[in-house]
Amino acid sequence: MEKNNGYKLKIDPEICQGTAYCVRVAPDLFRVNQGATVDVIEPNPAPEYEEQILEAATLCPTRAITY
Ligand code: SF4
Repeated sequence: MEKNNGYKLKIDPEICQGTAYCVRVAPDLFRVNQGATVDVIEPNPAPEYEEQILEAATLCPTRAITY
């Protein structure tokens, strides 16, 4: 399997609804911003964050997370 260290983690602010599920599963990667949506803290996370990235993207109800 390919090594996943080429992430480009992004949230689409147009479709993020600020549910913050992503912040709960990956607090090192996402944080709630003042606009009540979420910012990516680390767009290129280390490979050990793979599980958190996949979980956040799966839980996101609007599919706003791409990586
Ligand atoms: S889980 Fe999705 S909709 Fe909820 S805050 Fe994160 S990116 Fe936005």
